[in-house]
Amino acid sequence: MLISSINPANNQVIKQYNAHTADEVAKKINQTHQAWLQWHNTSFQERSALLHKLAEQLETRKNELAHLMAIEMGKPLNQGIGEAEKCAAVCTYYADNAESFLADQLIETEASKSFVTFQPIGTVLAVMPWNFPFWQVFRFLAPALAAGNCGVLKHASNVPGCALIIEEMVKAAGFPAHVFQTLLVGADAVEQIIEHPYIKAVTLTGSNGAGSKVAAKAGELIKKTVLELGGSDAYVILADADLDHAAHICVESRLINGGQSCIAAKRFIVVKDAEDEFTRLFVDKMAAKVMGDPLQGGVDIGPQARVNLRDQLHQQVEDSIAKGAKLLLGGKVCGGPGAYYPPTVLSNVKKGMPAFDEELFGPVAAIISATDEAEAIALANDSNFGLGAAIFTKDQARGEHIAATQLEAGSCFVNALVKSDPRLPFGGIKQSGYGRELGMFGIHEFVNIKTVFVG
Ligand code: NDP
Repeated sequence: MLISSINPANNQVIKQYNAHTADEVAKKINQTHQAWLQWHNTSFQERSALLHKLAEQLETRKNELAHLMAIEMGKPLNQGIGEAEKCAAVCTYYADNAESFLADQLIETEASKSFVTFQPIGTVLAVMPWNFPFWQVFRFLAPALAAGNCGVLKHASNVPGCALIIEEMVKAAGFPAHVFQTLLVGADAVEQIIEHPYIKAVTLTGSNGAGSKVAAKAGELIKKTVLELGGSDAYVILADADLDHAAHICVESRLINGGQSCIAAKRFIVVKDAEDEFTRLFVDKMAAKVMGDPLQGGVDIGPQARVNLRDQLHQQVEDSIAKGAKLLLGGKVCGGPGAYYPPTVLSNVKKGMPAFDEELFGPVAAIISATDEAEAIALANDSNFGLGAAIFTKDQARGEHIAATQLEAGSCFVNALVKSDPRLPFGGIKQSGYGRELGMFGIHEFVNIKTVFVG
């Protein structure tokens, strides 16, 4: 089977790769397990030194990595450089903090000594998406390696070049052979990989469909999973918000990565008194964004990652309009061979429309009207998803209260754009998944939290 890397800006094939056969995959998993038998006995100092080297690789090669992201999935160059730098930061973060996060915890009991120790579990399978083809992998890989685990990656089929260069950088940083390997396979090979006895756990970032299939298989085999799935993040704008600031943040969030981010703002819930002014500011700022070739400077939005994803997004827009949504901006498929889709704004969005009920993975904003704060919060929570949310108000204490206790999501921000940060746990509730990545909680997901009792 061939895995093809296709440039979404012009639909031309960049390169084709032979997929690994089932035998090759089994051999690689075995090699990684053999590597783990040594790796889990290494000290935190050794692992930390290697993670610092990996951070150096990412820093020195960031232009090359950004170019690869631009041609494989359409990310503008400056955003790709930022992504590579963030990957370096997460390597440094776990290099500096893993030892304290995983230090033994003494607990007083009737024993002469009793404590909790955090031990590595083996090889973790990562099933990853194309939208942040380096960041999604590194936020799993840095804590995994720091904790003494090994990893194998099944990356999205449209970013094989990114998948291979990650393996190359891990080697170049000086990590022992095979502690991390890329498996070039399609989605249909994943079940068999999960069945391999040396695969101890699975982490997946992607759609709900993929998450559900992978978790079902892993559950059948009693293997732990962490799932980071979709979102339909609500940004709630109260009447007392700084509307210009709110509109700016909302546009930035909606257009992160051409709108293809799980934590991009998707639903904008505005209380009646602020609706007209917010909508005017928001549409103006969306219209000012520049769409174009991701290899050119000054571009805010490149093409969508694949033509089929762009077409699926457009269908969601058309279906929402057919059900009564009002098109204020964009909404037309661009001509030409690329997977371009313009910044689009829909208003009068209501429950029952795809723009309210589903994840819109592209530059399409849904403005939803609420009579007051209580209805706005109820609408924000009226979703199967629960990844991120934000609240905009000049009353900081009120914002903090709503963020902490009212909004149903894994991360709630006040007057700010929801983003992931190596220091803060990240993950969702409801259909957005379970488990946490990043911070101290992230590194605890794939360790054996072992009790030791000395009588
Ligand atoms: P997928 O969820 O299909 O892809 C993510 C990863 O899962 C890829 O590595 C994919 O492999 C793999 N995968 C897909 N199906 C299965 C399966 N049945 N068993 C095992 N692994 C599987 O995303 P798409 O690229 O198709 O995008 C579709 C939609 O998913 C988007 O429009 C968006 O709504 C959502 N999505 C959400 C992301 C997020 O960050 N929350 C990221 C990407 C997508 P392969 O590429 O070989 O199919």
